[in-house]
Amino acid sequence: MTPIINKHNSNIFWFDLCPNNESNFISVYVILDKKISIIETGPASSHNNLLAGIKQMGLNPEDIDYIIPTHIHLDHFGGGGHLMEVCKNAKSIVHPNAYKHVSSIDRWWLGSCDFLGSIAELYGKPKPISEERLISAEDDFELSLGNHKIRALHTPGHAPHHITWIYGDDAFVGDSAGLWYPKIGRSFPVTPGYYRHDLALESIEKMDELELAYIHYTHFGPRNAEGVFMQTKKEFQLWMRVVEKGYKEDKSPNIILSELFDLRPGLKRTHSSHGPHQTETHLGTVEGMLNWVRRESAKD
Ligand SMILES: [Zn+2]
Repeated sequence: MTPIINKHNSNIFWFDLCPNNESNFISVYVILDKKISIIETGPASSHNNLLAGIKQMGLNPEDIDYIIPTHIHLDHFGGGGHLMEVCKNAKSIVHPNAYKHVSSIDRWWLGSCDFLGSIAELYGKPKPISEERLISAEDDFELSLGNHKIRALHTPGHAPHHITWIYGDDAFVGDSAGLWYPKIGRSFPVTPGYYRHDLALESIEKMDELELAYIHYTHFGPRNAEGVFMQTKKEFQLWMRVVEKGYKEDKSPNIILSELFDLRPGLKRTHSSHGPHQTETHLGTVEGMLNWVRRESAKD
């Protein structure tokens, strides 16, 4: 596979990683500044496609200075250790809470297998990265890449160790602003089983304050940032209202999802177009939100 390289501006490039031939699912971003950085690596199973993309850009793996995931879910950084092995001069920058998992992968891999089942195998097992090649990024961590700095904004909610990376007026938002479907011009929330709705909304508000020009989703591609975060917050809140009502009425996750299909234009279409990695993604989000509602109501 030879990926097509998309140019966002003179510094930011991206391509479709096509894991297991699934297109429009994972975008990998490359920042060409005095230092060269890769944002997200995708899973271990698409390592060869990642290398093909790097080569297609005219780069050698040895040229890469930084490998920077938004978080370490397997679809974002499962291939991090594989890439670090060939990018001999690179350091990887991760959230302090992710640091121990990427240097010693056992709990990370077992947890992923527990939650993802056979999909974890489809993504492939990560390789560990030695601690001396890791940089731990606290909130507000910054590093000069040349023309611009890259800065870490901790954006928990989807995952406790999620980081949005800011470079000039562009930001790489991982899964903190949901999934973006450019073909229908809409985005929808995405949550794993353990989801913090309060933190997710706070993170969206923090990103809204940045006055960004473009945001770059992992799923999938760049989007003009105008008005996006307030729209995203409303979408998350609407989903949560539907889930809360469903919880009170003791509805199953599938019934709640079918209500969302009726309410949200395009949602059903995106559900059926999900490839093998994400067959039940929207259902998973309803379940993650239900778990949040359950935990909250147990507090009362
Ligand atoms: Zn993801």
